[in-house]
Amino acid sequence: AGALMRGKRGVIMGVANNRSIAWAIAQAVAAQGGELAFTYQGEALEKRIRPLAESVGSDLVVPCDVTDDAALDSAFRTVAARWGEVDFLVHAIGFADKQYLRGRYADTPRDAFLQAMDISCYSFTAAAQRAGALMKRGGSMLTLTYLGAERVTPHYNVMGVAKAALESSVRYLAADFGSSAIRVNGLSAGPIKTLAASGIGDFSYILKWNQYNAPLERNVALEEVGASGLYLLSDLSRGVTGEIHHVDCGYHIVGMKNPNAPDI
Ligand code: NAD
Repeated sequence: AGALMRGKRGVIMGVANNRSIAWAIAQAVAAQGGELAFTYQGEALEKRIRPLAESVGSDLVVPCDVTDDAALDSAFRTVAARWGEVDFLVHAIGFADKQYLRGRYADTPRDAFLQAMDISCYSFTAAAQRAGALMKRGGSMLTLTYLGAERVTPHYNVMGVAKAALESSVRYLAADFGSSAIRVNGLSAGPIKTLAASGIGDFSYILKWNQYNAPLERNVALEEVGASGLYLLSDLSRGVTGEIHHVDCGYHIVGMKNPNAPDI
């Protein structure tokens, strides 16, 4: 264990279970001495989150449905009451009705569009407002995104549009918070089999395609996303803000199918 995060405290939003990307980042940060608070979506998740939090020495576990401003206020009030200040924020939250994560993007109805934008994009801005107010000595904020924001990937549809808005919000937030020495970045992860990913149509095909065509000829591991998340939250990346950092075994540079890849 190292000490990269010793003396730093932060809020991790988006752990649903031990396969969550948020959990991989939490473990990497805790292993470097960081102190963690966790927010979770709903009552049903609490009994799953508490033991995970305890395993990294945290008892600061608060409910926060990000569609509810009062819940956001209350969660950050609880953190402020305990710590006074925070040093980092991890936002690993996304949602779209899975009925629209297949078929044509063009068929997305207004309510599904607004819900995906609210939970997957606006919630980062809403969390940044509240976390930023507690980052009195500067800090680092991180959100999770996907290549479907930049290019068309099958079935990602309305989530791709919401992630594009999220990536743009990373840049605007980085500009707004820069004078407070607060950095804001996005981590664009390759596909990983998580609860959220299971809502995406043909996800196993997407995993195989990435495995065969990524320069490293494999899929990214959760722990690798955790390690890169640690870098973006720690002082190692103190000169980096407004960046979308790909952690995808290089898949984002590829323009065509690898001619040596087997058929899927
Ligand atoms: P996950 O299901 O473990 O995490 C998604 C989280 O979003 C859950 O904890 C869920 O409770 C939370 N959430 C959804 N609606 C919410 C709400 N209204 N209020 C509060 N929380 C809410 O899946 P994951 O793959 O770890 O997803 C984390 C992030 O990583 C998401 O933004 C996702 O888009 C992104 N991402 C995932 C992949 C992948 O392949 N798994 C790739 C790139 C980016």
